[in-house]
Amino acid sequence: MNILLFGPPGAGKGTQSALLIKKKAMRQISTGDLFRAAIKGGTPLGLEAKSYINEGKLVPDSVTIGMVREELSKHRGPFILDGFPRNVAQAEALEVLLNELKISVDRAIFLEVPNAYLLGRLTGRRVCKTCGATYHIEAKPPKAKGVCDVCGGPVIQRDDDKEEVIKTRLEAYEESTKPLKDYYQVKGQLVTVDGTGSTEDVFGRIDRVLRS
Ligand code: AMP
Repeated sequence: MNILLFGPPGAGKGTQSALLIKKKAMRQISTGDLFRAAIKGGTPLGLEAKSYINEGKLVPDSVTIGMVREELSKHRGPFILDGFPRNVAQAEALEVLLNELKISVDRAIFLEVPNAYLLGRLTGRRVCKTCGATYHIEAKPPKAKGVCDVCGGPVIQRDDDKEEVIKTRLEAYEESTKPLKDYYQVKGQLVTVDGTGSTEDVFGRIDRVLRS
């Protein structure tokens, strides 16, 4: 099964994708992770994306769609698209791309989390600089402060998880990404999943969708 996972920043897309990879042998294509890897590697793509990401804005569609095209063409097998599409133009481009590659998306899962939860989730989020494992200062702190449980790397706050940038990210979500709910509703692919509660509870809900 191929799925899209979308929702507001802080909805838990990355956390749930990590579980899906582990438990369902699916491959994750996260545009946010791909951009961060490009920035870390100092590639031309990273240089182009960096200023948008640091300001909490969406990276231009031409850059993002090209990157996804390359990634999807690389491998076969079930995948989770995490954080793409993020607007209707990207959703339309994805449809063209999937037709070309003769693959389809089975479900567009919208992870629904009320706005009141998002700020706390994002400002408290910490990530491992080396392996990308995610933590939260209250809900899921690493065992040793500042050290990743998985790989021992440094646990840091993403620049775009700082409060002043989060505001812009949430605005970009409201304006560009939320309309995707209607887009996938019309296509009959939308499934809304309650993204509140424990990681395991949310995963259980997603799992039920995948089994249905
Ligand atoms: P994320 O890790 O999904 O929260 O993404 C981090 C940042 O990467 C976003 O705030 C955007 O600046 C950029 N980004 C990720 N995915 C996309 C996308 N599909 N289109 C445009 N920008 C994106």
